[in-house]
Amino acid sequence: DLGSVKYQAWLERPLVLVADESTQTIVQTCLFERRNFYDENATALYFSNIGGASLAMYLDFGLRHDAIDHHLLDMLCSNVSVCLDNVVLTSRMHNLAFFDPLTGLANRLQLLQTLHDTLHSPKKDDSALALIDIDHFAETNDALGHQFGDFLLCSVGKRLRSHFGDNCQIARIGNDIFAILGHEDLVSPNLILSLFQQAFIADHQNVQLSATLGLIKFSDYEHSSSEALKDANIALKRAKLHNRSAYCYFTRDMGVEIRERVRMMHALRAAFEGERLFVVYQPQIDMRSGKTVGAEALLRWRTEEGNFVPPDQFIPIAEYSGLIVNIGEWVLRSACFELMQLREAGYLEFQIAVNVSQAQFSHPQFMHSLERALKDSRIPPHCLELEITESMAMTDPEMLISMLQKIKGMGVRISIDDFGTGFSSLSQLQKLNVDKLKIDRAFVSEISSVDSEASIARMIVQLSQSLNLAVIAEGVETKEQAEALLTFGCQFAQGFLYAKPKTKTELRAWLKG
Ligand code: C2E
Ligand code: CA
Ligand code: CA
Repeated sequence: DLGSVKYQAWLERPLVLVADESTQTIVQTCLFERRNFYDENATALYFSNIGGASLAMYLDFGLRHDAIDHHLLDMLCSNVSVCLDNVVLTSRMHNLAFFDPLTGLANRLQLLQTLHDTLHSPKKDDSALALIDIDHFAETNDALGHQFGDFLLCSVGKRLRSHFGDNCQIARIGNDIFAILGHEDLVSPNLILSLFQQAFIADHQNVQLSATLGLIKFSDYEHSSSEALKDANIALKRAKLHNRSAYCYFTRDMGVEIRERVRMMHALRAAFEGERLFVVYQPQIDMRSGKTVGAEALLRWRTEEGNFVPPDQFIPIAEYSGLIVNIGEWVLRSACFELMQLREAGYLEFQIAVNVSQAQFSHPQFMHSLERALKDSRIPPHCLELEITESMAMTDPEMLISMLQKIKGMGVRISIDDFGTGFSSLSQLQKLNVDKLKIDRAFVSEISSVDSEASIARMIVQLSQSLNLAVIAEGVETKEQAEALLTFGCQFAQGFLYAKPKTKTELRAWLKG
């Protein structure tokens, strides 16, 4: 029992001895010879390799000179060494597990732990959590290097700590995302944003940063700590969507919205597997002859209760979740096989258009699945048209250009859907080398209300003529629209004026006239 004894201990590194000379000698001997040292009036106990360092403990009294006692003491010290080493190791592991090595702040795990404790304590009702996302950090990192980025993060961490450190928990929970958990009066968005008004210093440079915040108050929050972190993230995403350098508090509706989307994702997967998805075909008409020249394949989802979910609602979820890759391939194959059957029935000029989203297009297997659909259905490639949107040209033009080249090399045609709503430049359009423009229905529906000379629909038709592209109008609902389009020089149309999307059987009946 050393509890009652006066003692001093020194770590081998750094060795700073402030004791008198004889004490110094004893301690140094102990450390140098790596053993316990026994003297008449003093003792130095040696503890080896505790977290990589050795420790000498100085006792200002002698112990009995008894070989057995010394032997026992030696064993005790080596046992204590092992135990202490374990303690150091566990605390290091704890540090690694719960702290961010770059900034020394708590990490996500530690934050979750504190959050859990907070949500189960009386503090819950006036606590709040803020997530702080540094705007455009990725760009800064790319432009000025990761090391500079690290300096910046440390600088942000330091400022947050110096303002909130004593009263709140501060954590870095993602690359450039910090979190502050504490009393809701302290965790105030204006206060946090005001910290970003002054430049940060990194590598002797002044850098002006801005941040976007997602916050959540816990007064009537019922979910777990990990849900709370997710919900704060939802608020952050919402804030970023609206405006950078702003903030947004989580509201219950947001959670419902997200949970609803997750629910819909599961339901969509189940519907796909349960074969409750099907494809309908909307006829495309040659307005001069009145003949049906082709159809656009459109996906439908009928729930088990018999309700229809509109594609505008579920397609984005399919895209977001990646389900669109399999579903889209299935639509493509269905359309190709339907076309094959129409050809067998004698409709040899019939064309089929299939919508393809960005997520499908950028999937490495896309070309392969397209080739397979053509091969398996044995339809001529020029009877198939893929509808892509202008916005796809914006995200990754190089990828798109090379993909389109390959697709066109196969003989498949390309049209640009919703034309006029994206922002692609003319030069980009020329590079894409597409076959057809599809006038968005917004421009078709405004035809009667604007001066027809000035209508966008007319300009798109002129553009298609000068670029030597085919053109089709979608969403044609009235005779006036059809007539105006014809006078502009647009020959083809799709819309409720002619036909709504039809099931396979309905389409056959329609074609028979
Ligand atoms: P979209 O490609 O622009 O498809 C045309 C939409 O306009 C269809 O809606 C169609 O039913 C509707 N429509 C056709 N004629 C008229 C009309 O005269 N008036 C009005 N008001 N609407 C008309 P739908 O079927 O609800 O599809 C909505 C969107 O969902 C499509 O827009 C397309 O972006 C997407 N979508 C549908 N099926 C697929 C698919 O298989 N794959 C992918 N990636 N997207 C699809
Ligand atoms: Ca379309
Ligand atoms: Ca469209």
